Amino acid sequence: MGLRKKIKCEICEENYAEYVCKICKRNVCLDHFNLSNGICVVCNESLCELCREYLATETCIYCGKIICERCSVQLDTVRYVCLNCYYKSKHVSRT
Ligand SMILES: [Zn+2]
Ligand SMILES: [Zn+2]
Ligand SMILES: [Zn+2]
Ligand SMILES: [Zn+2]
Repeated sequence: MGLRKKIKCEICEENYAEYVCKICKRNVCLDHFNLSNGICVVCNESLCELCREYLATETCIYCGKIICERCSVQLDTVRYVCLNCYYKSKHVSRT
């Protein structure tokens, strides 16, 4: 105890890392960690805007939100929409 070498935050390299991001496994300080979802600020920025759980891989062509594989619907080889816009467009076409 007490002999464990302290690791510095891999983002700012200034503060001591007290947390580990659950996505990228980076050691980060409190300043660069999001306590509510357990991920670092870097991952937080590229997180799916719908579920906030997975890293976004696509951008919705309607609302421009970044979305993960699970929250996106592929329209064709290059275009994706988020589930929100997908269902919305379905509802609109019905009326
Ligand atoms: Zn930091
Ligand atoms: Zn991370
Ligand atoms: Zn998602
Ligand atoms: Zn959308």
